[in-house]
Amino acid sequence: MRIQEFDLNRLPRGEKTRRSLEIPTRPDDGDCSLPLLSVIGADAGPTLLVLAGVHGDEYEGIAAIPQVFAAVEPDQLRGALIMVPVCNPPAYRAALRSSPVDGLNLARVFPGAVDGSITQRIAHWIVDKLLRHADFMIDLHTGGIAYELPLLNGYVHDDGRLGQAALAAAKAFGAPTRWGHPLPIPPGRSLTAATDLGVPCVYTEAPGSAGIDPDVLECFRTGVTNVMKHLGMLSGDLIRRPPRHHLVGHGDLDSVIAAPAPGLFRRECGLLDAVEAGQCLGTIRDEHGAITSEIIAKSAGIVIMLRGLPRVEIGDGLVHLAHRYEP
Ligand SMILES: [Zn+2]
Repeated sequence: MRIQEFDLNRLPRGEKTRRSLEIPTRPDDGDCSLPLLSVIGADAGPTLLVLAGVHGDEYEGIAAIPQVFAAVEPDQLRGALIMVPVCNPPAYRAALRSSPVDGLNLARVFPGAVDGSITQRIAHWIVDKLLRHADFMIDLHTGGIAYELPLLNGYVHDDGRLGQAALAAAKAFGAPTRWGHPLPIPPGRSLTAATDLGVPCVYTEAPGSAGIDPDVLECFRTGVTNVMKHLGMLSGDLIRRPPRHHLVGHGDLDSVIAAPAPGLFRRECGLLDAVEAGQCLGTIRDEHGAITSEIIAKSAGIVIMLRGLPRVEIGDGLVHLAHRYEP
């Protein structure tokens, strides 16, 4: 089905369906269809949008969505569960974070452009046909092949309606770490588009690597189901897990401690370590094994992101620090 013809608000009650929504393409783009798994409850209720595969090399969310779909039946559901397991099909097919077609990172181009390149068009149609009609959004990310983050829920940290709804859903989701981001959220993220539309949202991160970690998969599956219960879409008790860490700070992974030189990055800190200003966080070595750069913390903080893939180019993100939330 052409995505232009899709109308979320006209899906029949009681329907559980898999669809492929064709994004309008240009001759050099190749085919591009968004897989859509939807369950429309027999009774009215909220519309929950769940995204995964915004980055093409982040696998647990892509694997979790079909499992959630398999477990939810229309007669148990109030409202609509709308899920896109692979938001960037060209990047997914190439096992890359960003699109090999136009080189763009889908998580930097929201809300997209109807006449833009393929990644911008994907963003446009996700916003126009799905996000705009949602009452809540969950975006399932991990660190992918190159980055490691603790298993966490990110949310907008704010006293307003969106922030409070996001924090409540992050608590329901139940990842072991929570990471709140003060407004404004940097441009281009699904979180930014959702916030601009007044749709509360949470996202996830996880250690990444090229595999599917069963614990992360289980957390995502339980987390989405918990949020559905929290929103009143499903009956039953939430599976509660108390958080181990509650951190705040900007979530802009474009402005992290970056590699000043190309080479082999070797970390000297671990995820969620508390580090001091002046501490060496890692080194970069050249092909002879000589240290060319020491990566020094400019301030104290908690390690929230670490480069996992050792080979780095100038400008690649190596380490990002957050701070403990102290209400
Ligand atoms: Zn991601």
